[in-house]
Amino acid sequence: MKAYTTHIVLWILILLITGCEAKASPLPQIQAEEKLNKVLPHNTKPIKMVSRVLSPSIPILMYHSIGSKSQSTLYVPPKVFQKQMEYLKMSGYHTISFKDLKSWKKGVAMLDKPIIITFDDGYSDNFTIGYPILRKLDMKATIFITSDFVSTTNHLSWDQLRKMEESSCIEIGVHTRRHVNLIKQNPMQLKDEILGAKKRVEEKLGHETIAFAYPFGRNNRKVVKAVKEAGFEFAVTTQSGLAEQKQGFLTLSRIRITGSQSMADFERMFP
Ligand SMILES: [Zn+2]
Repeated sequence: MKAYTTHIVLWILILLITGCEAKASPLPQIQAEEKLNKVLPHNTKPIKMVSRVLSPSIPILMYHSIGSKSQSTLYVPPKVFQKQMEYLKMSGYHTISFKDLKSWKKGVAMLDKPIIITFDDGYSDNFTIGYPILRKLDMKATIFITSDFVSTTNHLSWDQLRKMEESSCIEIGVHTRRHVNLIKQNPMQLKDEILGAKKRVEEKLGHETIAFAYPFGRNNRKVVKAVKEAGFEFAVTTQSGLAEQKQGFLTLSRIRITGSQSMADFERMFP
C-alpha cells in the first residue's frame, strides 16, 4: 500500500513537471518550482530544484591581463589565475558564454552554478597564458576586443582570435574601436565606435557578435541606445556586483578580479 501511494505521488510529480515543460512559453522557472513545492505533503522533502540556474543573478568576472606586472590592478598573475579557475571548476561552477546566456534571458534552464569569465581589451597574454589554462580545464571565457588595436603590440591578432574561437572555449565580444569614453562622443562617433567595431569584428571573424563591454564601464541612456541599435544582445559595465536581470541585459554588473586578492577572498566570493 505504501509503495502504491509512493507510486501515485511520483506520477503527480511527473505530470506536473512534464506539464510545465510542454507549454510553448513556460512559466518562469521559479513559479513552476513554487507550484510543485505546494502540492508536496508536508513531511516530504521537496525535490531539490533550487539552483543558480533559476536565480535571477549570475556572477560575471572581469579580468584584463594575465601577467605579472605588480602594482597594477589590471594584472592577475598566471599562477593565481590558474588556481582561481581550478577552484571554480572544483566547486561545481560551469563557465558559460554570452550565447549560453540567451537561455537565461528566455528563462530556460541552464547548467547549474553558471559563471561568466570575461577579459577586457584583448591583451596577447589572454592567448599565451589564459587560453591554455582554460582549455586544459575545459572552461569557457569571453574576450572583449578593441577592434583597432587587434594585431598591435601586446594585443591579440586576428589569427589568435580565430584559433581560440575554433576551440569553442573562447567567445569574442566587442569593446569599441579605440577604447574611448563613450559618454563624450557625438552621435556619429558613437555609431562609429560601436557599430563600426561590431562590423569590423564580424567581417574578420565571419560571424555575428552579441556581447559588448563599455570602455571604463562608462555609459548613459544615449550610449546604451546606440549599443542596442547596433544589435548587441548583452552589454557589461564595470559596476560591481552580480549580474541581475533587473539591471537590464545591456547594463549588467561584473565582479572585478585583481591580482592583489587572496585566494581566501576569492573562495569567499564564490562559495
Ligand atoms: Zn577596457
